[in-house]
Amino acid sequence: MTSAIRRLRPVVDDWSWQARGKCLRWPTEIFFPEDLGRPGLRAREQRAKQICRDCPVLMQCRDHALGTPEVHGVWGATTARERAQVRAGQR
Ligand code: SF4
Repeated sequence: MTSAIRRLRPVVDDWSWQARGKCLRWPTEIFFPEDLGRPGLRAREQRAKQICRDCPVLMQCRDHALGTPEVHGVWGATTARERAQVRAGQR
């Protein structure tokens, strides 16, 4: 029974850091630049990453995105592509 409960627990227990994220003051779509397609993607990614760089919870956010893993969007000033590269290097 205990092992079944462990499997059902959320991947992340503490989400409180998200309440301090700078992204809360911006439209959500800024942090999902891939949703608008390839044209202009790099510029949109850079815009989101610039906001993240001043965020007080950047490292918690990045750790979350790498560990969950989040496969869409800019989290902790990293794109999904960059996080996939980091995860591939950890194997
Ligand atoms: S690092 Fe970026 S995505 Fe993460 S909480 Fe801060 S502003 Fe939001």
